[in-house]
Amino acid sequence: MLVVMQSQATEEQVRAVCDRIESLGLRAHPIPGAGRTAIGITGNSGSIDTGALETMAGVLECVPISKPYKLVSRDVKQENTIVRIPTPSGEVTFGGTAVALVGGPCAIESRDQAFTIAERIHASGARLFRGGAYKPRTSPYAFQGLAERGLEILAQVREEFGLGIVTEAIDDDSLDLVEKYADVIQIGARNMQNFSLLKRAGRAKKPVLLKRGMSATLDEFLMAAEYVLSEGNYQVILCERGVRTFTDHTRNTLDLSIIPAVQSRSHLPIAADPSHGTGRRNKVLPLSRACVAVGADGLLVEVHHDPARALSDGPQSILPDEFDQLVREVRDIAGVIGRTLN
Ligand code: PEP
Ligand code: MN
Repeated sequence: MLVVMQSQATEEQVRAVCDRIESLGLRAHPIPGAGRTAIGITGNSGSIDTGALETMAGVLECVPISKPYKLVSRDVKQENTIVRIPTPSGEVTFGGTAVALVGGPCAIESRDQAFTIAERIHASGARLFRGGAYKPRTSPYAFQGLAERGLEILAQVREEFGLGIVTEAIDDDSLDLVEKYADVIQIGARNMQNFSLLKRAGRAKKPVLLKRGMSATLDEFLMAAEYVLSEGNYQVILCERGVRTFTDHTRNTLDLSIIPAVQSRSHLPIAADPSHGTGRRNKVLPLSRACVAVGADGLLVEVHHDPARALSDGPQSILPDEFDQLVREVRDIAGVIGRTLN
């Protein structure tokens, strides 16, 4: 259910409606829009008696929402959500005119490795650095990440190069630490339906980058985001990272068409990850161009200065020189569709 307020409704009227919703044992989510505020209601198991709300001052109408997802839906908020990431060198946004570029290694392996790559990411003009301190690996014997030591290195990268930090949390304990050290909390594909972790992310005070599960449908993806918003964190960036198909020329199939499909259903920004989406170094550049052309709000790319020795995802990591070329080319493509890079 959605309560649509009149465009001239006052803050007090919005607050009174929220209080009334909460007094019914439900949760109110006021979502300011360009012309008016809408208040999403969650927590109801059946239908809501709208009589008590419809007659309140400032209320325009009560609208039932038929879709399973509510807060992420464009029914609740027509204009795009712009997720703002404060970095030491200014704000980076997802969902506005600019396309956000995120580069870095799959895993933080050492201070030297992180600094060597971060220097090149910074020089290329990208302003967000990603690298895993906690790695969800298929094999328990594979490199699992440096844990808090990795987060400390990421904090040093931020300090040295002014880059904002994106890194993954894999459980509640690591999320506590990631929230403390990083600027964006990544929830990985394998955790897209880890509902307790999604709820914890929903209580975090930092933006969340939510990757699509490797076999998730569009509705399942949006419902996962709904978990985060329903706990009060509206700063969510979706990320397409490829799904499992029968192809054997790539690791995953990057599902480019989900980008316009998300954009027609949801106000949330959607980024794309052509590294996991292809798993092959030589396909990252062409697919990056395609992601921007199709309307992605951001790009996540794995970059390593010595991929042959990388402790994870070497075969899909591009070299820093290739990242420079990627930045140049996607900037041109962004320009064609009236966008810039940030
Ligand atoms: C990663 O970003 O390195 C990662 C593990 O991604 P995904 O969750 O998409 O597999
Ligand atoms: Mn990776």
